[in-house]
Amino acid sequence: MEQGRFQPGTAGVIEEELLADETLWTDDDSDHSGWFCVRTNPFPCPALGCTFVADYMTAAHLILVWEQRDDPNLLRHAGRAKDVGRNPRITEYESSFGPSASYYAWEAAGGPVHGVRAP
Ligand SMILES: [Zn+2]
Repeated sequence: MEQGRFQPGTAGVIEEELLADETLWTDDDSDHSGWFCVRTNPFPCPALGCTFVADYMTAAHLILVWEQRDDPNLLRHAGRAKDVGRNPRITEYESSFGPSASYYAWEAAGGPVHGVRAP
């Protein structure tokens, strides 16, 4: 009998694995030079215990990029960032900024983010 070997379903374990894994989610098609991202005031990752600080609009620590500067989703997210005082500036993305992810690939993947929000 192999019973008792695995203890699935403990949320604590899942969260620890998320925090330990630097690559939370990646967009395979990763060269987005010439796409557009949104630079913002620095803000910390909302996940509990995470020390990552973003200088761009990110998801799961990846800079979100849009192919068109006037993409309605880009403008909507930039507008929301402005509302909360993050001073968004739409900027042409360069690979030196850090790892990126297409907004639409991110959305298609179910919108993964890092861990859980701090209480
Ligand atoms: Zn994080």
